[in-house]
Amino acid sequence: MSRAAPAIVILGNGSLITAQRIQQRYPNALIHGLEHRVEGADKTYSDFAATLRQLYQQDTPIIALCAAGIVIRTLAPLLLEKGAEPPVLAVAEDASAVVPLLGGLGGVNDLAREIAAALGVTPAITTSGELRFGTCLLNPPSGYALGDLEVGKRFVSDLLAGEPVRIEGDAPWLARAQLPENPQARLAICVSSAAREPAANELLIYPRTVLVKVNELVLASTIREALQAAHLAWQSLACVVAVDTLMANVALREVAAELGVPLRFVGADEQLPVAWREASGSLAIGVASVPVDVQQIGRARGRLAVIGLGPGAAELMVPAVKAELARANDILGYETYVRMAGPFRDDQVMHCTDNREEMQRARHAFELAAMGRSVVVVSSGDPGVFAMASAVLEALHESDNPQWHSVDLEMLPGVSASLATAAQAGAPLGHDFCVMSLSDNLKPWSIIEKRLDLAAEADLALAFYNPISRSRPWQLGVALEIVARHRTPSTPVVLGRDIGRPGQTLRVTTLGELTPEQVDMRTMVLIGSSTTCTFPRADGRDWVYTPRWYGEKP
Ligand code: SAH
Repeated sequence: MSRAAPAIVILGNGSLITAQRIQQRYPNALIHGLEHRVEGADKTYSDFAATLRQLYQQDTPIIALCAAGIVIRTLAPLLLEKGAEPPVLAVAEDASAVVPLLGGLGGVNDLAREIAAALGVTPAITTSGELRFGTCLLNPPSGYALGDLEVGKRFVSDLLAGEPVRIEGDAPWLARAQLPENPQARLAICVSSAAREPAANELLIYPRTVLVKVNELVLASTIREALQAAHLAWQSLACVVAVDTLMANVALREVAAELGVPLRFVGADEQLPVAWREASGSLAIGVASVPVDVQQIGRARGRLAVIGLGPGAAELMVPAVKAELARANDILGYETYVRMAGPFRDDQVMHCTDNREEMQRARHAFELAAMGRSVVVVSSGDPGVFAMASAVLEALHESDNPQWHSVDLEMLPGVSASLATAAQAGAPLGHDFCVMSLSDNLKPWSIIEKRLDLAAEADLALAFYNPISRSRPWQLGVALEIVARHRTPSTPVVLGRDIGRPGQTLRVTTLGELTPEQVDMRTMVLIGSSTTCTFPRADGRDWVYTPRWYGEKP
């Protein structure tokens, strides 16, 4: 089975060496270390139980370097729920024991054997069938499907009781197992894609050798009936292949989900390595001689997510963004932000570009996604605030390429710099406010002046992005003069620099004291309205807030 990269979870520095030895065996695995306790982990967490449960629910294999009991107690509440069941193992921090705990059908014993081999110890495998036969009959490798789990369990217990078995049909994986084979046996394992009822004493295993290709939307029942008419078992279906003009078709996605198989796309004339039998005008069936590697058939519907990292700190990144980064094949963006979004696995490709090449980056993202890849475009803060979401939509709007329009496109929000800065100062944006970029790179300065004047006149609190840069040295000074026409010099001002990043600074001042030299391009400028006020906080700094009411206090 192709597995997601495991997460190696450690609680203290004492486990780091063992964790790194395991990581050598799985270079894509990340080491998750407890905050303030572990130095040198790939990722840090603050809550062990929440982290373990989240990994489990996301179906991530877990290698926890701690007592088995802690892992069991932490995950116990999740075990009665139906859902993901990834492999879970406990490994002794001194590398002396590897204990598979959960995920028997997800290959936990295989993982245990691999880790134990890497650490030079014997895994604590307790699954009788596996110990005796060297394979888990109930968990066929990818490319094969078990007919019936209950029949399978009875079957394994008969074998354990000493009965021999016949193998009919071809499955190299079974031939390699140490099953008590005997051509005269009463019990039989039949490997075949033929549709039929299992006889008594027979375990059916279906090789996933069958492809169904559709030229238009068909119902799941139509596919099942066509397979039945061709005497093929639906369990042998490897995937549904559709012409790529159907890529954005929602109903077809539901059909594939109902059949429990992936959906792949090909060009109208694209050749595939199977012989097609026409079943009806809209549907053809192909049968391969060996299980089909679905990844090799055409391509998946590509995905493009434009994500917001938040201001920088990992805790302020939304979980949907973290999950998206984990599934990405390609990550595009300004180098600083791509690095901030990492670390990435060896199989993930980073495409770092200069900050100015936004349209080119957006088009490159569509090209990659149209190939069926899962692509992430990274913005800081929120992707819809002076960032990549608009550039990506502009590129799509300009394009008449149907493949670009078929990409699964989604924007995932982040905490924007104005909100992250405001939160640290208190609530300066607690009432109506106006967000502006002071950059005149993409809009005329006259518009900026007009908006500043009207927003200040309307007594909105103001949040300035891109307040100043080397190529725009004078604009902020002019902007402040315009604001000063409508505001007193005592109006509170908040300057947040590198908020949520190393070396962050937060400064509370007033409009009268503010000069452009105090501001650079990594600074967020918040200017209060007439009602914004400050008062001292216990640590000697100031709280800044704008009350929710206006005029007379209600
Ligand atoms: N999409 C981003 C904004 C991009 S514009 C967001 O939603 O936050 C870039 C400007 O945002 C910078 O010039 C600066 O004014 C502000 N900015 C971005 N990150 C910041 C941070 N961590 N601290 C302070 N200001 C930041």
